[in-house]
Amino acid sequence: MIQPIVFIVVTITAFGLAFVQYKRIRRNVLLGQDEAIEGPSSERWRNMLLVAFGQKKMFKNWIPAIFHLFIYVAFLLTQIELIEILVDGATGHHRIFAEPLGGFYTFLISFIEILSLLAFVATIIFLARRNLLKVPRFHKPEMKGWPFKDANLILYGEILLIIGIFSMNGADMVLQSMGAEGYHQTGAFAVSSWLGPTLFGGLDAGTLMVIERFGWWLHVLVVYAFLNYLPISKHLHILLAFPNTYFARLTPRGQMKNMPEIQKEVAAMMNPEAAPSSTESQEETMPVFGASDVFHLSWRDLLAAYTCTECGRCTAECPANITGKKLSPRKIMMDVRDRMEEVSKNIDSKDPKFFPESPQTMLPNKLGYDDGKNLFDYISREEIHACTTCNACVEACPVLINPLDIILQLRRYEILVESSGPSDWLPLFNSLENSQSAWAMSTPRDAWNQ
Ligand code: SF4
Ligand code: SF4
Repeated sequence: MIQPIVFIVVTITAFGLAFVQYKRIRRNVLLGQDEAIEGPSSERWRNMLLVAFGQKKMFKNWIPAIFHLFIYVAFLLTQIELIEILVDGATGHHRIFAEPLGGFYTFLISFIEILSLLAFVATIIFLARRNLLKVPRFHKPEMKGWPFKDANLILYGEILLIIGIFSMNGADMVLQSMGAEGYHQTGAFAVSSWLGPTLFGGLDAGTLMVIERFGWWLHVLVVYAFLNYLPISKHLHILLAFPNTYFARLTPRGQMKNMPEIQKEVAAMMNPEAAPSSTESQEETMPVFGASDVFHLSWRDLLAAYTCTECGRCTAECPANITGKKLSPRKIMMDVRDRMEEVSKNIDSKDPKFFPESPQTMLPNKLGYDDGKNLFDYISREEIHACTTCNACVEACPVLINPLDIILQLRRYEILVESSGPSDWLPLFNSLENSQSAWAMSTPRDAWNQ
């Protein structure tokens, strides 16, 4: 009787704490600018199924992709076993689905066991690759400290989960063979039917029951710990890869977003009669030119920052990074997330100093928030200037993230709001303004067409 009560209390606490954290993440994503979701939903579903569920982009490199798939599928399917654990835990039953499902139950648990074994091998290989082989993309400057620990922690968690599964099932197999009370026959599970007797054969029933319960609780507690750990970890992508791929922009790669305010200005220059009257233009709300903080980025960019797996595939392909520049598209995504977390903490503190009557920010934000900092405290000018806008990072990302969009927004702010930027860009701007071309030529831009 005590176990179901303890289980229910632990479960409600774990889900309650997780709910607060996921609600906070949703609020943070919605701090961004509205952006319409265009394009057919069929294409979005296709993207989600192929890229998030099917891991399509991971298979550019087969070997790590297959090991990643083992961990991912094992993790997903283990949650089926978790449904039974939840029902058993709350009702005090033991393997409640075994009898009604019969042979299918044996097949399902055996399948999960084989995947768990493959996931165990993959986890050891990933730990070795990260810590012994020193793959360069895992050891860039932005991966020092917490990001490096975070990557290892989830792998240790995965090992604990697998230990839980095999302790639980292995001891159960031996108890079943002894005819212990309450341990009904489930058929032989693919791995634990031989692993159980190998590890626990010869132990008495009391010890086996302790091992079985230990495995059961370890499984439950590791899953609850994952649930609460994900919101502070890069592994949030396990959940957010699905919405992120669904909501990813469907526009052709490299197509830049037009700025309607600038378009209006240019149209007015070309045709002054069509220009809005001064009262009309005063009534319009202050436009946002580019972005200096998370409030000015689209909610899609903020969702992407939480989805970033910190895998570094973008940085490994970035020509600026490869040629020794400071720019790393992965760091751009990590910085946006870190800044979002800082803003989130300050908002939650409800300290009035973060909501002054007259915010000093150059661009408005919907909360009137001002902590005297912005994204440029995380991302240097040197980084954003180094981008060649080649889109290699966008192409490389396995979960359809677009770091380039954020870089362009920061550059737009720097140029349009601060009127600054590298001095060697100025001749280009002057030429564009005076001769509508990148080169200072007096020949009309469309002269080649004559
Ligand atoms: S678009 Fe910019 S950040 Fe992305 S790969 Fe190219 S140079 Fe690097
Ligand atoms: S942006 Fe994409 S490719 Fe780059 S680190 Fe994040 S998940 Fe990996």
